Amino acid sequence: MTYQNYSLKQLQQIDAAHHLHPFTDHKDLRAAGSRMIVRADGPFVYDSEGNEILDGMAGLWCVNIGYGRNELAEAAYQQMKELPYYNSFFRCTTPTPTLLAKKIAELAPKGLSQVFFGSSGSEANDTALRLVRHFWALEGKPEKNRIISRKMAYHGSTVAGTSLGGMEGMHGQLGGAVPNIVHVMMPYAFELSLPGESDHDFGMRAARAVEDAILEAGPDKVAAFIGEPVMGAGGVKIPPASYWPEVQRICRKHDVLLMLDEVITGYGRTGHWFAAETFGVEPDTITTAKALTSGYQPLSALLVGDRIAGTLQEKGGEFYHGYTYSGHPVACAVALKNLEIMEKEGLVERVRDDTGPYFAEMLRERIGGHPLVGEVRSVGLMGAIEIVGDKRTRERFQPVGSAAVLVRDHAIGQGMMMRATGDTMILSPPLIWTRQTIDLAGERIARALDLAE
Ligand code: PLP
Repeated sequence: MTYQNYSLKQLQQIDAAHHLHPFTDHKDLRAAGSRMIVRADGPFVYDSEGNEILDGMAGLWCVNIGYGRNELAEAAYQQMKELPYYNSFFRCTTPTPTLLAKKIAELAPKGLSQVFFGSSGSEANDTALRLVRHFWALEGKPEKNRIISRKMAYHGSTVAGTSLGGMEGMHGQLGGAVPNIVHVMMPYAFELSLPGESDHDFGMRAARAVEDAILEAGPDKVAAFIGEPVMGAGGVKIPPASYWPEVQRICRKHDVLLMLDEVITGYGRTGHWFAAETFGVEPDTITTAKALTSGYQPLSALLVGDRIAGTLQEKGGEFYHGYTYSGHPVACAVALKNLEIMEKEGLVERVRDDTGPYFAEMLRERIGGHPLVGEVRSVGLMGAIEIVGDKRTRERFQPVGSAAVLVRDHAIGQGMMMRATGDTMILSPPLIWTRQTIDLAGERIARALDLAE
């Protein structure tokens, strides 16, 4: 890597001249320039100016085993030398996706034993959308093709991912979504619960919105409901305990498939291998990506339940769908090593029994009382801090989102990477965080809040 031959200013000029960034206002970027992250180790990333930053986002919800794991580089290297690429099309495959599919099936909730690989969460959701519609067509019900999703859901950036998602800004630029997808209210008690409404009742009301949408379309027209167990990009919105069991009951009652998008929550984030277990849901599909390789390689896996897989095998006929890199041998070799490390180090159990509860305590004790904070919440190592102008009324600063961006920028100045979405600060650190790392994060976040006040 020869970036050392360039000054930061030069790199920023080259970046502005040639590199279009995802989810970025390029006018802003041109004016302000990018921070260049140049290396990383354990829970820290380092920028070109030598600043050490504690990575509270695990990259983008993905680097669960932390940075600098040579075993993953070694696994990629060995696989590249032996067989860098071959496809899984046309009744052919390679050993690593085969063995990875078996491994994922072993870790997955019961009844999800088949896996379809892609390179991103968006691709996996695209596959899931097409697969559930294909399933109902094979079952002789092609008109049962409507999908119910939620406002503010994030399911990716492809046309299908954006259409499944419920982000208004993204829909505004889409110029026509995939048809037959409707969006219902999200289970976000902090903003949507009514005065005096209990968490339980709010969860039941949010679940009822799913049933209303099913009844409005007619159950014979509804293929599936899709949801993130915890809405991630939308602001770590953790549903009340009543929500998922009720959604599941409703889906079963109307024979509507239940699709979980665990691109963020899959592989340990909530203290179980899958958040389906955390929330007691038995879905028909689970979309995963990110932490499957801890972000060291792009890879996604759609877990498919026995009902759908059984129909595919029984009825036959080609599923006209696939990607050149479905089951890429190098990405799969890295994923196998990543899962091996997670198991060996007991990272999921550690989040469940120790660091998850300690993280919740840190947020509650150190951050929750701050005058700018309206609520803290977390599950496993996934947390949110609501920034408000008035703690009592929960009134936000204007313009919406400005205060959170200020907190984010102060946090980076304090050596702490967090994300701001609307007025919500988000945390999703690597699962290797210890109690000490959590304490360090608490100190830095508290200082950032003080500076923003
Ligand atoms: N689904 C969820 C829940 C996500 O959070 C994301 C990305 O953040 C995606 C899907 C899309 O994944 P990708 O960016 O790998 O396409």
